[in-house]
Amino acid sequence: MSTDKRLVKKTSLDKLFDSIKQQGKTIFAPKLKNGKVNYEQVERFSDIATDYIQTTQSAKVVAFPRTEKILDYTKSKEGIAVVEIDLQSISEVVIWGVRPCDAAGFLPLSAIFNWDTKDIIYNTRLEKTTLIGFSCNKCDESCFCTSVAGNPGGTEGSDMMLTQLGDNGDYLAEIITEKGKTIVDKNPDLFETAGEIDKQKYLADVPVKFNQTEIKDKLANFFENEIWLQQSLRCIGCGACASVCPTCACFDIQDEEHGKRGSRVRCWDNCGLSIFTLHTSGHNPREYQSQRWRQRILHKFSYMPERLSVYGCSGCGRCSRACPVDMNIIEHLTAIQEA
Ligand code: SF4
Ligand code: SF4
Repeated sequence: MSTDKRLVKKTSLDKLFDSIKQQGKTIFAPKLKNGKVNYEQVERFSDIATDYIQTTQSAKVVAFPRTEKILDYTKSKEGIAVVEIDLQSISEVVIWGVRPCDAAGFLPLSAIFNWDTKDIIYNTRLEKTTLIGFSCNKCDESCFCTSVAGNPGGTEGSDMMLTQLGDNGDYLAEIITEKGKTIVDKNPDLFETAGEIDKQKYLADVPVKFNQTEIKDKLANFFENEIWLQQSLRCIGCGACASVCPTCACFDIQDEEHGKRGSRVRCWDNCGLSIFTLHTSGHNPREYQSQRWRQRILHKFSYMPERLSVYGCSGCGRCSRACPVDMNIIEHLTAIQEA
């Protein structure tokens, strides 16, 4: 559908929040807790954090939880009885205040969860999720959305995008999908007609740091290169980078068994960890941290664009902010481009 543009008064934003809540939707929004801003279930508009650049964890946690039960089973003499997760029990969710890089992160995530088998649990969660994006009017040195085809007002992945027009201004609302239109239809009084608005001048200035196409081309012949060892020497393999990433989709399946009953659980996994590819035999095809670092960069900037036609990075900068030893992805990608 073509993008419809409306104006939402700053003083109407709380009414919009309350109206969505009254419709029975669960709202996740950035909230300050224990010194960090993260997506939390929010009951009151006043609980939403506004003074931050980026949440520590990405919004993916709503559609792809850190751990989730996918089935229950019971063993008996007759065999194993399986009860799969009831998809009807997945509730309608609104993620309020999603940054454009987080919303864009759902595209690679969806590509991974649908490249062969369609992941019905992920797809159902995402179908039941409405993303209300908020453009960025400020950034920090870790942000690089403009280097990976994004921008601080990008609408890709969002159902509705709100851009504040100045520090204390009202909001331009871009209605991008049917889900976004449903919000407008249910709250017609809160969405006024918008005149001509130059949204660009209200956005953060995020400089382009590298050329991702050049990097992709270079990586095609970069498997055996000393740069992987040089770059990963200080990596301690903690896995923080993948944990905070909006596009990382690796998971492990574990059975939690109690007597004859058990649950099969999907848990996030992490390519930075030394046991990620450890075989039962003891052999590990990615024995060294340099091989794990190489895999992380090749997967996001070479294999995914080649195989899924989408890059595995939305430029949120979380991995650089979270890394305890200051592995900076912009520096490393720039070095690869210049190598
Ligand atoms: S690789 Fe780093 S910058 Fe890119 S999307 Fe993941 S966390 Fe963000
Ligand atoms: S967060 Fe830093 S130290 Fe930890 S695995 Fe990632 S790159 Fe290595």
